[in-house]
Amino acid sequence: MTLRSFLAAEFDARTRQWLERAWREVRQVGGSVRWVRPEGLHATLAFFGDVTREQVAALTEGIRTGAAGRGPIPVRVGGLGGFPQATRARVVWVGVEDPSGRLAELQVRLTERFSALGFAADERGFHPHVTLGRAKAAPVSIAPHREALAAAGVEATEGMIERVVLFQSTLEPDGARYTPLTIVNLE
Ligand code: ATP
Ligand code: MG
Repeated sequence: MTLRSFLAAEFDARTRQWLERAWREVRQVGGSVRWVRPEGLHATLAFFGDVTREQVAALTEGIRTGAAGRGPIPVRVGGLGGFPQATRARVVWVGVEDPSGRLAELQVRLTERFSALGFAADERGFHPHVTLGRAKAAPVSIAPHREALAAAGVEATEGMIERVVLFQSTLEPDGARYTPLTIVNLE
């Protein structure tokens, strides 16, 4: 029995509302994009894939000891982007800037623990972002979505990462559903 799992950074309530607003605005533009469930908006810190219950216990211990006792992390959230390219995006995202460098520091610290448990770090490096949607088939241009955000005045906001959450992800035809397994508040 395994669980598909990943570690997310989650934002304060006001920033989450801002992200939902951005999600609504870009979703209205449409396009051949499957938009994520808005209640699950997050920045991924690490993706583990299928893990056993024993591995969940070891990861939980690593997350608790690696993240506990650290205060909330200030971030600037904004700017629509696309992976691999804005003109041909498979993933439509909002950027997360980390002016203090503390988010990257936390990510490195946790990733080192995970690699000691046998979970290799993503070789593409850490580019913090919040995924809003994924192209259903052919990649899309995000130019109209950017225009919609600019027209609505939804461009950037300042907030905090206030917790990290180990999630189980259940893949369903209409998009993944996330269930929290462990929550560590940054306080
Ligand atoms: P779906 O796969 O149905 O589109 P999803 O991507 O939201 O939904 P998961 O694939 O379970 O659900 O991914 C959970 C989180 O982990 C998401 O933030 C996703 O971007 C990230 N993720 C998934 N696969 C990887 C990977 N190979 N490397 C890094 N992050 C990943
Ligand atoms: Mg996925």
